[in-house]
Amino acid sequence: MTKFSRQREAIKNQLSCRYDHPTAETLYSELKETIPNLSIATVYRNLKQLEEWGEVVAITTDGATRYDANTHPHSHFFCRSCGSVIDLDCDNSDILEIGRRAGIHGVEGCSSNFYGVCSDCCQSIRNEI
Ligand SMILES: [Zn+2]
Ligand SMILES: [Zn+2]
Repeated sequence: MTKFSRQREAIKNQLSCRYDHPTAETLYSELKETIPNLSIATVYRNLKQLEEWGEVVAITTDGATRYDANTHPHSHFFCRSCGSVIDLDCDNSDILEIGRRAGIHGVEGCSSNFYGVCSDCCQSIRNEI
């Protein structure tokens, strides 16, 4: 139990110190350097547990599930060129209001996704031309 929790703490800490919304695989390969006996199954299991407790947020993109330690309501921008996921400070309160006005009293949250090409990719496309 203690060993289990320590690993979970390590996973959570590793996620908290980054803002690029890593996948379980990315977290695993980074943590493996400090926790050699860590398994990918443990990472998946603990992320799932943290998600159930509301301590992390899972973001499902076209192929992969990425994780976010920022549980404050916000939106994400998905770059279709490099696949990066960038935080946008938008709590969707206006959109939530639309839901409530529609008479749905049980609205608990809302997340919106933005798509396009990130600044870095725009820059490199310009450099290629
Ligand atoms: Zn990009
Ligand atoms: Zn985020």
